[in-house]
Amino acid sequence: MKAGILTLNSAHNFGASLQAYALQKTLENLGFETKIINYRYKKIDNVYNPYRRSKKGLLNIWFYLSRIKLHTLDKYKITKYYNYETFFKEYFNLTPPYKTLNQLMDVEWDYDFYLCGSDQIWSAHITRGLQPPYFLDFLPEDSKKIAYAASLGTDTINEYDIPLFKQYLFNIDNISIREQSSIKSLKECTDKTLDVTIDPTLLLEKEDYDELKIDPSFKDKDYIFVYVIDRNEELYKIAEKISQEENLPVVLSSPYIKPEKIFKKQMDPVWDMGPREFLGVLANAKYVVTNSFHGNIFSIIYQKPFISAPHQVTSARVLQFLEKINLKQVLFTDSNEFGNIKDVKIDYSDVERRLNDLKEESINFLKKSMVKDGKVKPNYFENKLELTCYGCYACKEICPNGAISMVEDFEGFVYPQIDEEICNNCDLCKKTCIFSKAELKNTDMHSVYAAYSLNKEVREFSSSGGIFLPLAQEFIEKGGYVVGVAYDENMEARYMITETMEECKKFSGSKYVRSNIEGILPEIKKLLDDSKKVLFTGIPCHVAGLKGYIGNRDNLFTAEILCHSNPSPKVFRKYIQYLEEKFKSKVIDFKFKNKSKGWKSPSVEIIFENGKTIIENAKYNNYTRAFQMGLTARPCCYNCEFVKENRAGDITIADFWGIEKIEEDWADDRGTSLIIVNNDKGQNLLDRIVDQLKIIPKTMEEAFIKNHKRPVIMRRERNEFFDRLDEENIDELLYSYNLLKQRMDKRKKFFL
Ligand SMILES: Cc1cc2nc3c(=O)[nH]c(=O)nc-3n(C[C@H](O)[C@H](O)[C@H](O)COP(=O)(O)OP(=O)(O)OC[C@H]3O[C@@H](n4cnc5c(N)ncnc54)[C@H](O)[C@@H]3O)c2cc1C
Repeated sequence: MKAGILTLNSAHNFGASLQAYALQKTLENLGFETKIINYRYKKIDNVYNPYRRSKKGLLNIWFYLSRIKLHTLDKYKITKYYNYETFFKEYFNLTPPYKTLNQLMDVEWDYDFYLCGSDQIWSAHITRGLQPPYFLDFLPEDSKKIAYAASLGTDTINEYDIPLFKQYLFNIDNISIREQSSIKSLKECTDKTLDVTIDPTLLLEKEDYDELKIDPSFKDKDYIFVYVIDRNEELYKIAEKISQEENLPVVLSSPYIKPEKIFKKQMDPVWDMGPREFLGVLANAKYVVTNSFHGNIFSIIYQKPFISAPHQVTSARVLQFLEKINLKQVLFTDSNEFGNIKDVKIDYSDVERRLNDLKEESINFLKKSMVKDGKVKPNYFENKLELTCYGCYACKEICPNGAISMVEDFEGFVYPQIDEEICNNCDLCKKTCIFSKAELKNTDMHSVYAAYSLNKEVREFSSSGGIFLPLAQEFIEKGGYVVGVAYDENMEARYMITETMEECKKFSGSKYVRSNIEGILPEIKKLLDDSKKVLFTGIPCHVAGLKGYIGNRDNLFTAEILCHSNPSPKVFRKYIQYLEEKFKSKVIDFKFKNKSKGWKSPSVEIIFENGKTIIENAKYNNYTRAFQMGLTARPCCYNCEFVKENRAGDITIADFWGIEKIEEDWADDRGTSLIIVNNDKGQNLLDRIVDQLKIIPKTMEEAFIKNHKRPVIMRRERNEFFDRLDEENIDELLYSYNLLKQRMDKRKKFFL
């Protein structure tokens, strides 16, 4: 069986690299063919790469000065860098390197198990915001995902990160964390069992590290190894005391601070160590003084007399760990409390016994998690997690007693609410729920095309290449019905059913807001029951909702649009209200894709009753920019199951972003559609309009060069935005996140 580990494998510090090595070796010992997924996340790599300033500053004097410094005063950084990189190459079973989430998404992963952890992979501080790869959020849905000794770095979770944790943890099958103290915060984010497991370095034996260690040249001398994460005066005083009393020199090292002379008796700095050299220096030391978590761990593995002075930020994990193995006597926060190293007694046989118990628990966690089991994900009725409800109305409409109403929450999205007094517990709502229903997705047959309407007017009028209108016409001309989304008199985007092309024209044009589907599903059912042909056009989750409610019908055809997210109707409402107040006239149309400046850089066109029209580049418009950033989307969009080849509709229509890069003569910038045919019915739909199109076959890979391959990523800012929504002026609020417009405004001011 194969296992893949995703961790901070490229961080150049002993803890990170040795824990990655240790988990790899542990899994191998358990019989798994193991790889470390070599995610070289730029923001982590840059911290450690001495050459990071490279080409950018080639013409800059500071670049040359810093290079001279690097090759003279800071030469140790280069040696250290290569010590680590060599260690990675020699001791990690690495996959090829992947620098981005997209690159990770492009791989056809075929491991049986995926593990994230250990180390601070869930620390928003270390990873500069929570990053999907560290939650294994790049793998196919049915992958078995396990968190091993993942660490948050702190005990609390930023309130705006809670929804992110809810989503990520929902998708991890078995979770274990490293610090007991994080459990309370994580419990707010998941109902799943949270195990506590030990740092992987503790799963191996001293002999395993003996095989790695490189002894230092001074190994035959007695010395005190002082290993610090940062400058710590109290720790230095303790080390100095030991040095004086025992008449021993100090060997000082740190991954983050510069070499310096601190102690009266100090040997040459060992600042260029890699993991193997670190093990050698620690293993041969007479005493260790440290404020590093892994400094503590390896002192224990090598059974050294040692002193621990907690680091200000990470003290909790050291403290909890030492408490667990009954070793609190080595902890000193105040040098005045420290007497003599010989008085700090450590019973290593007791420590070993306790460690073995912890080790057994952790190995058991791995054994119980690393088994293949069929996944059944609970839906909204069972877990009440917003991310599992598409708001598709299928449950409401199917209820025979009318016990379900759809209720808008503070973000403006509707969720089902059951009236327990009316409900007869038939469970039809739960059975109809579209969440995690494989049978609602067409995954087998996909033929892919780039196309646009040969009718110039249609192409110009439509959002992309104008595929919807010819499709609609096909149905209308033959007495069928078309369902699509238009604005009502209050500028609410609503599904409507029509028999006329005039109405269909109102459907044309993307409305970047969650559309209201209330009451539509039963109306469609009635038409289908009356043997009418219906073409339903809309977003994939609404197509799935319709199919969940009605089942497959020969006279129902579905054309879904590719949709990267659905903005809150409440935000749109507020924005319209703001515009109406500001311009003292009713908004009567809001076009999101005016192509006067081209299809790739469309403008929004807002039309008022009094004749006024505003045209603004969509990326600068405050509302549209928020949509593009995924700031205002429904929670389920961040967890959307209808991505890439998982298609709900018979046919999928979208923008063929990037077509000009692969087909030069398609670069006229008037709009090109992506068409994905998902089943025989979809093929039938395409065959019926193909003579009205310019069309060429393409591949799935080409189709998704620029389009989204995965759901939009939820960022902390999204949740902060909704927290501020009721308090602030909507345009100012949206502007506060519109960095593009802010930058443009600054530039304008500068030139004025
Ligand atoms: C919210 C949203 C997000 C989208 N995201 C992407 C994306 O990430 N990538 C991509 O390639 N394409 C995306 N699209 C689709 C794209 O913008 C075009 O709608 C699609 O390519 C069809 O273009 P067309 O020229 O053939 O049709 P048009 O003639 O423009 O017809 C538009 C069609 O979209 C439907 N529609 C419009 N607004 C809504 C709505 N709010 N809810 C449901 N249905 C609606 C209409 O009923 C009609 O069928 C998105 C569309 C929407 C509404």
